[in-house]
This record gives sequence, C-alpha cells and structure tokens, in this order.
Amino acid sequence: GSTSFVHVRVTPLDDELCLAVANDHTEARAAEQSRREFAVNVSHELKTPIGALSLLAETIEEGADDPVMVRKFAKKMRKEARRLTKLIQEIIEITRLQGGGSIAEHERLQLDGVVHEAIEAARLGADARDIRIVPDLKARPEIMGDRDLLVMALRNLIDNAVQYSDPGREVAVALGAKDGVASISVVDHGIGIDPKDQERIFERFYRADPARSRDTGGTGLGLSIVKHVALQHAGSVGLWSEQGVGSTFTLKLNVLQEG
Ligand code: ADP
Repeated sequence: GSTSFVHVRVTPLDDELCLAVANDHTEARAAEQSRREFAVNVSHELKTPIGALSLLAETIEEGADDPVMVRKFAKKMRKEARRLTKLIQEIIEITRLQGGGSIAEHERLQLDGVVHEAIEAARLGADARDIRIVPDLKARPEIMGDRDLLVMALRNLIDNAVQYSDPGREVAVALGAKDGVASISVVDHGIGIDPKDQERIFERFYRADPARSRDTGGTGLGLSIVKHVALQHAGSVGLWSEQGVGSTFTLKLNVLQEG
C-alpha cells in the first residue's frame, strides 16, 4: 500500500470574509445547492432504516408465528430503531454545528479529563468488539473549549477506530502539547483508508465502504461533526493512514495562554 498524509485545516471565517460571501451570488448559490444536497441525502439515509423496519413488520404480519423467529425480527427492529435514533441525533448536531456562527460555549478545560470522558463513553462499544482503548497522556494541556462538543468529537474518532479495526486490536489515544498547540491523536491498527478517499471522508455522508459503514450502524456524519467541532475551536483535524496498516486522526487545539 502507499502512504499519504492529508491535513484538513479549518479556520473560522472573519467578519470581512463573511460579508464578502453574503454579497457573492455564486457563493449564495453554492450554499443553496449544498443545502439541497443535504436534504436529499438526509431523506435518502432515513429511508434505509425505515424501509428495513417496514419489511420486518410486514414479515411478522404475514404470519411468522414461530416465537423464535418473531423474537429474532423484533431484535432486528430494535437495531434499526437505534440506527434511526443515532442518525437523527447526528443530523441535528451537524445542522447546529454548520448553521453559521459560533455555538461553542467556551470554558477552561483540562484536556486529559476530556480525553478520559470520551474513552469512557466509547468503552462499551470497544468491549463488545474486544478492543482495548489505551490512554497515553504525555501532557495535561489546558484549553478554552466546549466540553460536550469535544467529548462528542473524540468519541466519534474513537468509535471509528474501534469499528474499523479487527477484534483483539488496541486503540491508543495520545495527548500531547508542543509550541502552544495541544494535540489528541486516536491511533488504530485497522483497515486504513484508500488515499483517494482520504480527502473526502470529512464530507457529510461520504463513506469509503458504504456497505460496511451501514452494517456497523455508521451514519457517515461522524467525521464532518469532528471537522466542525475543530472549526468551532479554531483548531484543525489531520489524518495519516495506510491501507492494511491503520489510521491516526489528530485533533489540534490552541493551548490556553496565561496572562
Ligand atoms: P461512518 O458513520 O460511516 O463511520 P464517518 O464520517 O465517521 O462515518 O467516517 C466516514 C468514513 O471514513 C467511514 O465510512 C469509513 O469509510 C472511513 N473511516 C473513518 N474512520 C476510519 C478509521 N479509523 N479507519 C478506517 N476507515 C475510517
């Protein structure tokens, strides 16, 4: 496989740029186009679990009277309902994040606490796949940030690392700080990402392997949420990946300057 490195730098728009954008019809049309695409994608994504639910209900209706079968279908229905709930939660989240303007409620945060909270949140899913999450705290940087948004972003990265690794593997979460920049890296030894997909996986609903993502309950929104959380913190998110070797996603945030 070939190695490649992608860095998605996200910086907040300044006021002047916002004005220029508002006055630019081409940009306005592009934004309108993007909203339309989003609506089309959302309805398409919602149809999948709803279709599965209808089909399962129909099968029971049409006389699956073996109680073992009925229970099996009920279990599948609950899985689809869970997927639907996650999808709706993430659609609300991404809409809130990209709505324009800042939504982050900044408070003084010790990043190691944020890392631990995200690891705890991802623990159940990791256990289910027999994957150990290993924290690697090299520093305890302080930042100004939104705790809930950062936990959500990190959890998305850890959930992905778990989901796209084989059972038995380890996922490391490293926290460091250098030159006024804190970095959190989520390192997996999973399937890796094809160079041609690396630029695009931060887009809403983009998946390298749609079948696998859907099968594991993925929504295709996780990484676009991570990107927008970085944007809300004037930070960045970077990716190193090699197919068959693994992936490392790194979130960078400015360390709190004293005085
Ligand atoms: P999903 O819900 O599909 O995981 P994401 O936005 O979180 O959506 O990720 C987009 C796509 O990027 C995934 O469908 C997958 O193809 C790829 N991807 C994300 N994280 C990883 C990873 N750690 N290893 C391999 N592929 C990944």
